Amino acid sequence: MTSAPVSRVGVVGAGLMGSGIAEICARQGLVTRVCEQDEAALHEARRRVERSLERGHSTGKLSADEQEGALERLLFTTDVETFGDCDLVIEAIVERLADKIALFEQLDRITPESAILATNSSSLPIIEMARVTQRPDRVLGTHFFNPAPVMKLLELVRTIATSDQTLERARAFGESLGKHIIVAQDRGGYIVNLLLIPFLTHAVRVYESGFATRDDIDEGMKLGCGHPMGPLQLLDYIGLDTALFVCEALYSEYANADYAPPPLLRRMVAAGRLGTKSGRGFYEYEGGKLLR
Ligand code: NAD
Repeated sequence: MTSAPVSRVGVVGAGLMGSGIAEICARQGLVTRVCEQDEAALHEARRRVERSLERGHSTGKLSADEQEGALERLLFTTDVETFGDCDLVIEAIVERLADKIALFEQLDRITPESAILATNSSSLPIIEMARVTQRPDRVLGTHFFNPAPVMKLLELVRTIATSDQTLERARAFGESLGKHIIVAQDRGGYIVNLLLIPFLTHAVRVYESGFATRDDIDEGMKLGCGHPMGPLQLLDYIGLDTALFVCEALYSEYANADYAPPPLLRRMVAAGRLGTKSGRGFYEYEGGKLLR
């Protein structure tokens, strides 16, 4: 199987994460196909990437030529069947195993045999996605962090079936994007979320018990521990729906109460308070900017 560098990437699902992943790939000179499930979501994805590139230009991080070049390399579609020429496809759809498995079956049929199929999942068992393909050795996790163009880390997750060659090809791809690579095993939460999620859910429990206010919890961790943002605000940035899916995946993996979703998290998701993406979570936002 090939170890040629990745030059054509496909990204399926261009919400918070997929749009950022597509942006950095296009900025690094890779032809980048981006697929969303309908025209409205595709339009939103395109706007998000365009706004981010415009911000990069206005803050002097990107020249006009770089901005234009990235836009030219981004090919938006609602038809994943056009991904037949990709060397690597990264799925960044909703954190629901059944949806991801269905997508992997489809991608296995569409893409060249040599292509790597990757998931941006935060917590799910990647072997379950690999096993429905004819190429489990070419499946792994490429776990980017939010916002993908800014965060330095890329957590590669290898299953018991991922080949060394696939891991090294993914490492070279990640390094070409300027990311620092860590390698995790395919166990719920991998490295970062295994440690982070119990901390975040504990903050929700502290808040819902009335023990401390939202602002005191967040300021405490910012000023006392040097975190760039407090746990409740970080949950808003992750998306409370995504955080809930991750808690459920971890709880189902380990049956440990530390990972169980706090009732308030469930209620907020049920009420549509998903964080920055819906304008309200633990805080309120307008156009992504913190209001109060
Ligand atoms: P999101 O809800 O912002 O975006 C998901 C997108 O996928 C939506 O735009 C949706 O329309 C699209 N989608 C769903 N099914 C699709 C399909 N079949 N085909 C094409 N598009 C489809 O979610 P997100 O926060 O971007 O998370 C995406 C993935 O990344 C999840 O697996 C999540 O666990 C993971 N992740 C999230 C974060 C975070 O901080 N939010 C960080 C790291 C990893």
